[in-house]
Amino acid sequence: MQVWKFGGTSVGKPERMHSIRNLITSDDQQKIIVLSALSGTTNALLSIGESLKSDQPNEAVEKIEHLKAHYDSFVRELYKTNEGLTKGQKIIENEFSFIRSLTRIKPFTLKQEKELVAEGELLSTQMFQAYLEELEHDSILLPALEFMRIDADGEPELDYTERKLRELLRAHGDKKIIVTQGFICRNPRGEVDNLKRGGSDYTASLIGGAIRAEEIQIWTDIDGMHNNDPRIVKKTFPIRALTFEEAAELAYFGAKILHPSTITPAKMFGVPVRLKNTMDPDAEGTLIASKTSDQVFKAIAAKDSITALYIHSLRMLNAYGFLRRIFEVFEKYKTPVDLIATSEVSVSVTIDKTDNLTELMAELRTFCELEEPDYDQAIICIVGNFSADQAGIALQVLKAMEGIPIRMISYGGTEHNISLLVHGRYKAEALNALNEGLFELKEA
Ligand code: ADP
Ligand code: ASP
Ligand code: MG
Repeated sequence: MQVWKFGGTSVGKPERMHSIRNLITSDDQQKIIVLSALSGTTNALLSIGESLKSDQPNEAVEKIEHLKAHYDSFVRELYKTNEGLTKGQKIIENEFSFIRSLTRIKPFTLKQEKELVAEGELLSTQMFQAYLEELEHDSILLPALEFMRIDADGEPELDYTERKLRELLRAHGDKKIIVTQGFICRNPRGEVDNLKRGGSDYTASLIGGAIRAEEIQIWTDIDGMHNNDPRIVKKTFPIRALTFEEAAELAYFGAKILHPSTITPAKMFGVPVRLKNTMDPDAEGTLIASKTSDQVFKAIAAKDSITALYIHSLRMLNAYGFLRRIFEVFEKYKTPVDLIATSEVSVSVTIDKTDNLTELMAELRTFCELEEPDYDQAIICIVGNFSADQAGIALQVLKAMEGIPIRMISYGGTEHNISLLVHGRYKAEALNALNEGLFELKEA
């Protein structure tokens, strides 16, 4: 079985839903189809949530009706028959009446916000399943809330998903097309929750891992993973093959095409991930598996909103045990460290998650001296084959970065990654400079 995931733009217009129906029914293979919300919906729902949080119910109602009007016209184009349209309209009425009911709940808490934001995927999947039914395809909608669950730390419970999915597939696995929601799940309290922004990719790979799928395909609006961020750099090109490790680094360090955790379950079970373009299905895309090319520089990504902490030991020299004590504090406050640079008596680290920063810094201050953190930093991650025996790689990177101030460098953590920390204001300049300096770019 294969798992195919379609993102927001891939389902964002009625004609796109028509095209993806053609794609998924073009062969006889049984597939699980994971859908995101229609493009723009998750942001619109979050914005409705903002109005409700700031106690502006009228503003929220206005936004709700605006969004509903979009869905009303969407279903008029999606379905071909009156029967289909009536079904589609009923789905919209039901879901929007639930959304409206949330405006009457006070106070509007995180629990309601999560129920609200889940509506995007609940709408898109029901509408699509009704469309498949209209065309008499052999399909079924399996609710993700019945098999996706996160633990108290927000981590997906893969064993639970595996067990639940197997039960559900035993009952309904004869269907050719099995549709489900990306992004949404339940938490240990049984409430509706989610896998964070862009989480539908993660749903697809969790399902793919859980059922040991033959392949996971992520269908989006671009022809695969590019060598650099196409939103910032003009001359980028698709990469044909990446290893799980390379793709995981790129996703974790900001390549938006994949949710940061997507690769983990796929790699765990060796399920290949193929990135494909819904707008150009014949384009080759990117295959993420165990093999790669031996090209030196493969791709660059950048992660924003990074905080750098500068920590100094209060004792001079030979301060063994110092690193252990520092990292115990990071562990206590559940704060992952991305980059590290050390000298005999000082350590600089970068973190992404800052919700416990005040407490974490206070505890570090009990045995270290801390400088003022630097906020708004960006990690630039360069992925490739950087064999320790090969001379000149770091030189090429640093040469490309000439004129751009670098705060930290991490080289040698693996043979596949070089990371640089720059102030966020230099991010675009750094990505462009590295693109020019590290790749042979063909003129467009
Ligand atoms: P979807 O809605 O299908 O999940 P996303 O918007 O989350 O799509 O991801 C696709 C987008 O990721 C592309 O349109 C592109 O702008 C952006 N992107 C950022 N970095 C990369 C990269 N290295 N390669 C390809 N796309 C990237
Ligand atoms: N709809 C969710 C979001 O916009 C999940 C996804 O699209 O992957 O973040
Ligand atoms: Mg996405």
